[in-house]
Amino acid sequence: MTDQHCPGFESNKQLKEVKVVCPACKADIEIFADELEKTLKCPKCGQSFDPKTCQVPSK
Ligand SMILES: [Zn+2]
Repeated sequence: MTDQHCPGFESNKQLKEVKVVCPACKADIEIFADELEKTLKCPKCGQSFDPKTCQVPSK
């Protein structure tokens, strides 16, 4: 059995990921940094909100 590992996978990181919390249902949502500029729609409850105001500071 061969252990398949994709070597090119990690070079695929150009955009920073940020975590935001939906103000309506408190769901954790991971988005790319460029999406902070747009209105985000929560995949769980469908609420639209400004992700910049709901950002979770990273440790
Ligand atoms: Zn939500």
